[in-house]
Amino acid sequence: MLRDLAHERSELTGVNDQLATTNKRLAHQASHDPLTGLYNRRGTLDLLDQVLAASSLDEPVGLLFCDLDRFKAVNDALGHRGGDRFITIIADRLMRSLEPGAIAGRMGGDEFVVVVPNVDIAGIAAVADRLVGVLAQPVYAEGREVPSSVSIGVAASPAHGVAASELLRHANAALYRAKAAGR
Ligand code: GH3
Ligand code: MG
Repeated sequence: MLRDLAHERSELTGVNDQLATTNKRLAHQASHDPLTGLYNRRGTLDLLDQVLAASSLDEPVGLLFCDLDRFKAVNDALGHRGGDRFITIIADRLMRSLEPGAIAGRMGGDEFVVVVPNVDIAGIAAVADRLVGVLAQPVYAEGREVPSSVSIGVAASPAHGVAASELLRHANAALYRAKAAGR
């Protein structure tokens, strides 16, 4: 009897562990982009909300919105799979050039967002300048060297709002002004 109970208990523990592992995997899938491993739109917006909620008004939060320039031409030149490879190379570069504490996400297509806690508008503009340089290095994909360039718009709380939606709207508008000014 006691042995049966011990056996049952150990089986239940096993099932519990499996459930915990599955839950963790599902939570990761729900918040991450399978192509690049970055946060996806949902994961980025959730983290942005958390960072904003945890920051007081004297702790700014910087945000940048980044879109690859003429990415359709990359797809035309390399094919969709080559375009995917290009995106993963850009995502790796983006990740590696960020300071610890910064959050990078792929919002979809060729759009990326970076959130930097405790950084004001001047600080986030400096991060954007650095990224424009890093992401302008040519990319080697499908055995070819392909030119790369990005446009970036920035915003910071509380100057441009304290809600995620306000900051994203501001950075997105700045991004489109940057595109219009000549990519
Ligand atoms: P712009 O300079 O104005 O940004 O133009 P663009 O050519 O970069 O095009 P835009 O940003 O408007 O659209 C992004 C394109 O990226 C649209 C689509 O053809 C392509 N795309 C979207 N998602 C994916 C993807 O997952 N993989 C690949 N390879 N291409 C994608
Ligand atoms: Mg683009």
